[in-house]
Amino acid sequence: MAGSDLREIGAVADVRRGSTGFATIGAADGALGDLAAALVEALERRGFVRASEETEAGIVLNLVDREQPRPFRRRARGTFVAALWSLQEAPEDPLRETYPMLVRALANISLCYVPGHGVFFTTMERGNYLVPEGEGLAAEVVARLEPLATSHLVIDNEFRRDLEPELWEGDAVTRELADVGRRLGELDLLPAPFPVEDLVSADDLRRIKRLYAIGGLSYGNLSARLDATRFWMSASGVDKAKLDEPGRDILLVSGYDAEAGRIVLSVPPDVEPRRVSVDAIEHWMIYRENPTVGAILHLHAWIEGIEATDVNYPCGTEELAESVAALVRAAPDPAHAVVGLRNHGITATGDSLREILERIRPNLLRQVPMS
Ligand SMILES: [Zn+2]
Repeated sequence: MAGSDLREIGAVADVRRGSTGFATIGAADGALGDLAAALVEALERRGFVRASEETEAGIVLNLVDREQPRPFRRRARGTFVAALWSLQEAPEDPLRETYPMLVRALANISLCYVPGHGVFFTTMERGNYLVPEGEGLAAEVVARLEPLATSHLVIDNEFRRDLEPELWEGDAVTRELADVGRRLGELDLLPAPFPVEDLVSADDLRRIKRLYAIGGLSYGNLSARLDATRFWMSASGVDKAKLDEPGRDILLVSGYDAEAGRIVLSVPPDVEPRRVSVDAIEHWMIYRENPTVGAILHLHAWIEGIEATDVNYPCGTEELAESVAALVRAAPDPAHAVVGLRNHGITATGDSLREILERIRPNLLRQVPMS
């Protein structure tokens, strides 16, 4: 009896996960074709089912040609697209050689198979790591892919034109944000290494911005507390070295509508606001849990010996926010913590942005370790 109950529960769990479904697009022969077939088997073994329509799938494996990748244009932002392709030789500079495919194929992740070597993962956050060739390659690729593909984006914004007039021109906090942003630029700590505009058409660039809510694929963000419940944060896709206009380049996060999954922003009446950084949900969780945190800085850099997340969830997901908030909570001093985001960067808390930068700068490593 108990056995059959367990099976039933198992079946329900499978249906729930399978209800997102997966699809494969395109075709390949040779080693890449074999790997694609093995990935499909591995997905099915983990309870995923083939979607009846490609556009209904939660995970799309898009087999793309190296020279002429055909992008899969998703209907829903929740669809996670992996561009699967192949190189004959292991790339010398994997990030530089594989990142453009991520953008050209409008994918969430690039999976580049080099037969005899393994599968190079490349993420939007510039994560770049190898799952080595071996007996269980497909199973291992799916195991690394699944948590990323099934995580939940919380990147919608709700603008309320209710910012009090005395904050329309900003305040001491927004001036510090702008100042520290400028210093980060001078210190070359705001990488934006790929001329995305050169890789895709203007139409596709608009599509990327809408889908990922990423304004220009610039990395890093910063925020500082205004009061008990609100904080200022850099906008998405702006040059963080030029945070000029409060209400546009720097936004006031005044709440989170958990039911609708929307970040609430208070803006002045006459400003055309930009979207807030996709990591607003992470900062929101940290401020709410830790009343003594005054500021938060996220950089694509590293510090030796820090505790780091196990899974490299994508930016802007509830799962990334929760795992970073948990590490901050577990830190010896949550109000002055530096935690690692695996294959991605660091998030640091402190009294103010200046205090954080001064404290972490001597130990900053530009190279994020990849695993
Ligand atoms: Zn980041």
